[in-house]
Amino acid sequence: MKKVIILGGGFAGVQTAIELQKSGKFKVTLVSDRDYLYIYPISIWIPVRTAEFDDVKVPLADIRKK
Ligand SMILES: Cc1cc2nc3c(=O)[nH]c(=O)nc-3n(C[C@H](O)[C@H](O)[C@H](O)COP(=O)(O)OP(=O)(O)OC[C@H]3O[C@@H](n4cnc5c(N)ncnc54)[C@H](O)[C@@H]3O)c2cc1C
Repeated sequence: MKKVIILGGGFAGVQTAIELQKSGKFKVTLVSDRDYLYIYPISIWIPVRTAEFDDVKVPLADIRKK
């Protein structure tokens, strides 16, 4: 099985990891300097206190389990 390393755990990296993993053709390793996916679109609500920082991130470990 081919091995793939993806750099960055943003939308692009996570989606690529999911698709390659689902294909069953690759052993995928995702490397990121954060242990969470940061959801930028809803981060706009943090300054106006409609959302908290913790509401805007999804742990990469949770995504990996799924
Ligand atoms: C406030 C805001 C609102 C937005 N709203 C929308 C929207 O409504 N709709 C829309 O389509 N787009 C929106 N965007 C744009 C969207 O968030 C970006 O286009 C998208 O996040 C890009 O994804 P990416 O995976 O390429 O990069 P990023 O999301 O920036 O992910 C890069 C990842 O790489 C990691 N990384 C960086 N350097 C290193 C390193 N040296 N080693 C390891 N890991 C590293 C980072 O920690 C991060 O996890 C918004 C952006 C912002 C800032």
